[in-house]
This record gives sequence, structure tokens and C-alpha cells, in this order.
Amino acid sequence: MKYFSLNNKEHKSNFENAVVNGLAPDKGLYFPESIEQLPVSFFENLEKLSKPEITFEAIKSFVGNEIPDSALIDIIEKTIDFDFPVVEIENKISTLELFHGPTLAFKDVGARFMAGSLGYFIKKGNLGNITVLVATSGDTGGAVANGFLGVKGIDVVILYPKAKVSDIQEKQLTTLGENITALEVDGNFDDCQAMVKKAFLDKEVTSSRRLTSANSINVARWLPQMFYYFFAYRQLSSKNEKLVFSVPSGNFGNICAGMMARKMGLPIDHFVAANNSNDVVTNYLKSGEYLPKPSVQTISNAMDVGDPSNFVRILKIFNEDLSNLKEGFSAYSFDDKVTKQAIHKVYEENGYVMDPHGAVGYLGLQKFLEEHTGYYGTFLGTAHPVKFLDTVERTIGEKVEIPDSIQDLMHRQKKSLQISNYEDLKGYLLS
Ligand SMILES: *Cc1c(COP(=O)(O)O)cnc(C)c1O
Repeated sequence: MKYFSLNNKEHKSNFENAVVNGLAPDKGLYFPESIEQLPVSFFENLEKLSKPEITFEAIKSFVGNEIPDSALIDIIEKTIDFDFPVVEIENKISTLELFHGPTLAFKDVGARFMAGSLGYFIKKGNLGNITVLVATSGDTGGAVANGFLGVKGIDVVILYPKAKVSDIQEKQLTTLGENITALEVDGNFDDCQAMVKKAFLDKEVTSSRRLTSANSINVARWLPQMFYYFFAYRQLSSKNEKLVFSVPSGNFGNICAGMMARKMGLPIDHFVAANNSNDVVTNYLKSGEYLPKPSVQTISNAMDVGDPSNFVRILKIFNEDLSNLKEGFSAYSFDDKVTKQAIHKVYEENGYVMDPHGAVGYLGLQKFLEEHTGYYGTFLGTAHPVKFLDTVERTIGEKVEIPDSIQDLMHRQKKSLQISNYEDLKGYLLS
């Protein structure tokens, strides 16, 4: 499979280079040259296929023959060895729970697949060691740390803002050891991100270490996120209505993977991007103008993004045609107050506890269903409510049960290195 840069169609890459480098040399995002339709029989037989079989069919054409089938199956099995249940919440509304993986957020899927792919290419080739350098506002770091733990040839360096991630998130980043190093930055998430960007452009650093990133820009993190749309469809195919998925969105990697699944033939009729107060895309659909702006802080902080990186891929999927886009895609924004009201209401009426990100997804779906008839809707539960314990417990007025895996985690010893500026980071990377 070949990929091309969205900045310049002539800049091409195979899967391996796209995974190893993340971005094209012209800083464009990679996009597959062709998207293969799966045969109708595949969808008719979906219920009879196992999760690894479905996943293999979905990803095979994007990997081509660059990873042999046996190795690909091995990577897949490690990627999806947990549950993806669809839970009905109220009439015509269900949620796809994506938080049963090791770090209790959907990012486990992409992080594990990317770790498996990169690990394969390192073992096979003469790439030498690679350093995955990543800034996190909370969820990415934990998923990446967990996914890459113990992968030979890869060092992971995670920058996170001191005192600005939740306790659970911090433990997930700082207690693993081995090839994972957590750098605790005296600053906010934007500072962390700025330092990472600077390191990628610093010749002294890049000549001593091979750096790559692990966010949804990377095709090996982005594309596997389509897997669970297939799993959801398998559970929903008996609904005799048009299907709409509402996706709590920040960098729009997750929703964009769902749109790829639809391109391959998955019968999803409509996508809703559910946003918090960071409303660039909501505004774009209203005005036709894409105006990035600084992010604002919310209780659904993994979606505090002012210039979503995957938006260019969405435009590509819809052939850069706004009316085409509007037919398959809607976007709505909700502030923290409304989000908390939704968490409270759904708990009171249905006994279901949503995290703030899932709650935004619920709100987006509800709004879409109010305006359109003949649909059955599913919103993506992107994180377990315990990851945002304070907000959730205060909103529902009750304690949330903590899974055993998290209780163990909370007793582990935190290990981090404190840094306060770029020179500290550089010093660490050169040491
Ligand atoms: C990362 C994240 C999101 C946003 O996903 P994108 O792919 O960046 O749109 C939503 N919810 C949670 C809990 C997340 O961690």
C-alpha cells in the first residue's frame, strides 16, 4: 500500500516509512492512495467472524505485504484482546464502551497497534533504536506508555504537565519503568507540546536519536481505530434503522477512522462530531470557514484542541466538498455546564455513569436525533468514568466503583524526572 502526503500528492511513502516517520518530509499527513471496498459477503457474514478475523480483513489492504500475515495477526490479537460492548441506554441510544483496555481509554487500540507495527519494523530492519517522544494532556501518554512497554528497540519519553493530569493518569504514566520515562514539566500542556516540537526540529537531537511521535497523525495509530466500528456494527446490525455514530472529538482521529470504515462499505449513515467548547469544526460546518484558535480548558480535557490535526483527512475523505461533507457529517458543541447536566440526568434516569467525554458524545447524538427521524444512534464512550473521578463523583453525588486494576496501580511508586525548560529536555535526550 502506498500513502501520499496531503500537502503534495507527489510525496509518496510505503506503510513502513509512514509508520516510522509519522509525518511526510513536507510535514503533510499521510493518506492512503486507495481505499478498498470490502465485499458485501463480508458484511453479511460479520456475525460469524471472530474479532481478529474482522480486524485482519479491515486492515490488511492498508498494510499490504509489508508485514507478513502471521506477524500481522499476532499484532492484531494483542491490539484487541479486550471487550468492546455496545450498551443500550435509552430508546434509540446506545453507547459503544471503548474503555475496557489496560488504560481505560480508546487510545489503547491505536497505541498497541502502532507499538506492534513499529516493533516489527525495528526487529526486521536496520533502523536501530527509535525514541517515541510524546506530549500528553492525560490519556495519550498512558496508552502509549502501556502499548510500548517492553517493546525492544523503542524508548518512550513522555512529557506531561505537572499537577494538570488526574491522579490515575499520572500513575499510568509514571509507574511502568523499563523503556518508559516520564518527564514532569513545570508548565501546561501547550508548553509540553512546544518542547516536543522543538526537539523534532533540533538537528543536534535528531542526529543523536531517531525520533518519532505517537499521536493520531501516525497512520498506525489512526487506522486501527476503525476496528471497533466494525465490532459495533456486528452488535447493531439487527436494528432496522439508519445508523448514526456520535464521536467525542478532539484531534478528530477517532471519527475520521470511522469514516474510513464507511468508505470500505460499513453501513454507517451519518457521523456526528461531538465537541466541547472547542468549536472550530462546529463553526466550520456553519460558516464554511475553518478558523483555528487557541484551545480553551474544559472538563473533557482530552478534547481541548483548537486546530484538530486530522481535519484535513476528513476533508479528503469527502473530496473537499462542503455539501458532500454536510450530508454525512454534523458537528455540535456543548459547554461544561450542559455536559454535567447530561451526566447527572443519564445517571438519575438510567443508572448509567458517563465520563465527561462520553457525555459530550451523548449530547451530540441526542441533538442529532431530535432533528432527524429514522435513525438508531450510538455514541462512543471514549474513557472510563474513573479517569475523571472528581468531576463525575461531584456531578452524580455518589462514589464510583474503582476497578481492581486501578486500585493496584494507585499503590505503585511514581517515578518521574522534573524538567522546566527546553534545555532540560535536550540535556536528557542527549545524555
Ligand atoms: C483523545 C480522546 C478523545 C479525542 O479523540 P480524537 O481522536 O483526538 O478526536 C476523546 N475522548 C477521550 C477520553 C480521549 O482520550
